[in-house]
Amino acid sequence: MVFQENKSLREYNTFAVPAVAHRFIEINRKEDLPALFSAKDLLKLPLLVLGGGSNLLFTGDYQGTVLKMNIQGVSAEQKQELVFVEAGAGVPWNSLVIYCVDRGYAGIENLSLIPGSAGAAPIQNIGAYGVELKDVFDSLEAFDTQTGEFRRFNREECEFAYRESVFKTKYRGRFIVTSIRLKLSTVFHPNISYGAIETELQKRDIREPSLKDISQVVADIRVAKLPDPQTIGNAGSFFKNPIINSDEFERLRKKFPDVVNFSMSEGRVKVAAGWLIEQCGWKGKKVGHTGTWKNQALVLVNHGSASGKEIYDFSEQIIGSVYDKFCVILEREVNII
Ligand SMILES: Cc1cc2nc3c(=O)[nH]c(=O)nc-3n(C[C@H](O)[C@H](O)[C@H](O)COP(=O)(O)OP(=O)(O)OC[C@H]3O[C@@H](n4cnc5c(N)ncnc54)[C@H](O)[C@@H]3O)c2cc1C
Repeated sequence: MVFQENKSLREYNTFAVPAVAHRFIEINRKEDLPALFSAKDLLKLPLLVLGGGSNLLFTGDYQGTVLKMNIQGVSAEQKQELVFVEAGAGVPWNSLVIYCVDRGYAGIENLSLIPGSAGAAPIQNIGAYGVELKDVFDSLEAFDTQTGEFRRFNREECEFAYRESVFKTKYRGRFIVTSIRLKLSTVFHPNISYGAIETELQKRDIREPSLKDISQVVADIRVAKLPDPQTIGNAGSFFKNPIINSDEFERLRKKFPDVVNFSMSEGRVKVAAGWLIEQCGWKGKKVGHTGTWKNQALVLVNHGSASGKEIYDFSEQIIGSVYDKFCVILEREVNII
């Protein structure tokens, strides 16, 4: 356990905005947690669990304790064609994907190159290219900051939904994920129905893609489409795609026949937030030190010296103009701190 005070968080958030943590503690072993929480003064200040900082925006200094999760370790247990892979919360998500792809464990190849840590993946049920974490999730272990005990959650108990889980709703801020367990398979069925995967495979003349081919194609598409946080600060999609009911959707489609959408269960429709933002003229716009990405209006960027507050205020402007034009409320995917 490493303990520091007044620690700069700039290199701990992919937006690269300036912020200082009053206290900063690195957690390298799950056993550190019960000891830490038995010192009751820790709970007097607000607490932020930090992974890779790729899904949050600091709008100012953090006047509490930041717990940086560094717990490492990956192991696999095979039962016939099923493989259960367990990873420590601090394992970088993409290292876990590479570990699995290299060994022929199928299920998370479509989630290649998503930044962040394994421990944060269940928090918003990460998803990309037609796959969500919930599709391959077995269970997780978490430390309960209220009882001081560890608890295992199975898939149902996590109450996964689109960019949601129980850890963002009724248990918000209560549990610290220490490890996750995935249920993968040695039998590979490529999932190429979503986005540009199929077109890209055709371009490369790959007819029977391997696990590695899918992972590589997804990674290449993402590199072409999204800004690299190493060179331009961002946190991926800033907003969720709004989900509306069929009546609301018909009203929208009547006025805007080209509206980009995806049908969901129970007559609900997911509307592409990037399209809504683009139609309001925001794509590639630079406002002060912030703006939207030139290839994807859903991604807000830091052009170098933006503060978190500046990016937040810009996101308010976008929400306002999308509402004025479409009467649709955009919800932020990024956690505002
Ligand atoms: C370029 C780019 C592309 C992205 N693409 C995608 C994408 O395709 N799909 C997608 O779903 N997301 C995407 N994201 C968002 C982000 O990568 C994911 O949400 C990721 O899971 C966040 O992980 P993290 O470790 O960085 O979490 P952080 O940003 O550190 O934390 C996010 C939230 O989870 C909480 N948290 C973190 N670790 C723990 C833990 N161990 N226990 C309890 N709570 C915890 C934090 O308190 C915070 O509320 C993208 C981000 C970027 C920068």
